[in-house]
Amino acid sequence: MSQLQPPSLSLYIHLPWCIRKCPYCDFNSFRVPAAGTAGRQYFAAYTEALLRELESEAGESGGRKIVSIYLGGGTPSLFPPEEIRRIIGTARNLLATVPDIEISMEANPGTVTPDTLAGYREAGVNRLSLGIQSLNEVFLRRLCRIHSREEAIRAISAVREIFPNFNLDLMHSLPGQSASEALSDLSEALSFNPPHLSWYQLTLEENTPFGQNPPALPSEEVSEEICLEGFRILECAGYTHYEVSAFTRERPCIHNSNYWKFGDYLAVGAGAHSKISMEGRIVRKARLENPEDYIRGLMEPGKSCIREKRIVSPEELLFEYLLNRLRLFEPISAPEFEAGTGLPFAELRERLRSFEEDGLVKFTEDALALTARGTSFVNTILADFL
Ligand code: SF4
Repeated sequence: MSQLQPPSLSLYIHLPWCIRKCPYCDFNSFRVPAAGTAGRQYFAAYTEALLRELESEAGESGGRKIVSIYLGGGTPSLFPPEEIRRIIGTARNLLATVPDIEISMEANPGTVTPDTLAGYREAGVNRLSLGIQSLNEVFLRRLCRIHSREEAIRAISAVREIFPNFNLDLMHSLPGQSASEALSDLSEALSFNPPHLSWYQLTLEENTPFGQNPPALPSEEVSEEICLEGFRILECAGYTHYEVSAFTRERPCIHNSNYWKFGDYLAVGAGAHSKISMEGRIVRKARLENPEDYIRGLMEPGKSCIREKRIVSPEELLFEYLLNRLRLFEPISAPEFEAGTGLPFAELRERLRSFEEDGLVKFTEDALALTARGTSFVNTILADFL
């Protein structure tokens, strides 16, 4: 019988506010409550609650060293560097960390200056992920982004000076976008030599203004053309395509790779989800989504910030594992599969036999890999497990 092994461990910290809500966004984010002193006090109250949760969750690490911290949102760059310093400092005091820990933070080009970026770097952030989404003024307006093309370019230039390790987030297949517009956006983003790029297609999520009132998006053929030509451009520029939407010239993102490898993660903050392997089981917890409820859940006696806690059932386990792991293009070895699920590798082969016959996956004695055709049919494979 295979044994579920505790995998590597990360920490996710959710900071849930944005200047305003983008119409395509279904993340747990809220319009910033107030400007000036009131806003600062509100952020400070949230940080207090967050640190309290961190103290109570740290025990779940089981003494494992964390490999990464990720400050996501929302727009974490709305928080002043002093708050970010407190959060990172407390996490590092409470948790053992690997020496070369990756500490990432998301930032919006409309909320940073060279001084605040330098403040985040001093606070301990060593990887900055900048959400530019496009460098074309027309599409930035269609996405209702808060920043202009000029602000995005200024922010990239400042980030490059301060963070040798940075990521740009860029979207394609935007409302009314032609293939040549999407590809020139990509080429311009690459002219800044980002060590890492997240290049992903806009999707319409149901509970968003775009989902309710869909704008006209490029046809499937145009999106396919964008992807094929974009992948070629990225390859020629020296980028490795290591995950569905992630490209790197240097190293993969440690934090996101840990999710995709079905690693464990502690999580704190409104709406944050954690996954921890303990005593041969996987426990998932989700927190209250509204920041005020979350603060009350932590600061008022007798209340809790946990919305849901559940143990992943054996039936869900294989689906959850593949949902994450098939996003990465490197093969899955038998020892990795067995350590991550506690299931025998032979069971995986049995479950995927029909896809092997259809040429979507291939097995060797001790590894599974998607075929080139299979990379386009990951959802078909996953649907079989639902
Ligand atoms: S800035 Fe990012 S997190 Fe905030 S609403 Fe827009 S897409 Fe969502």
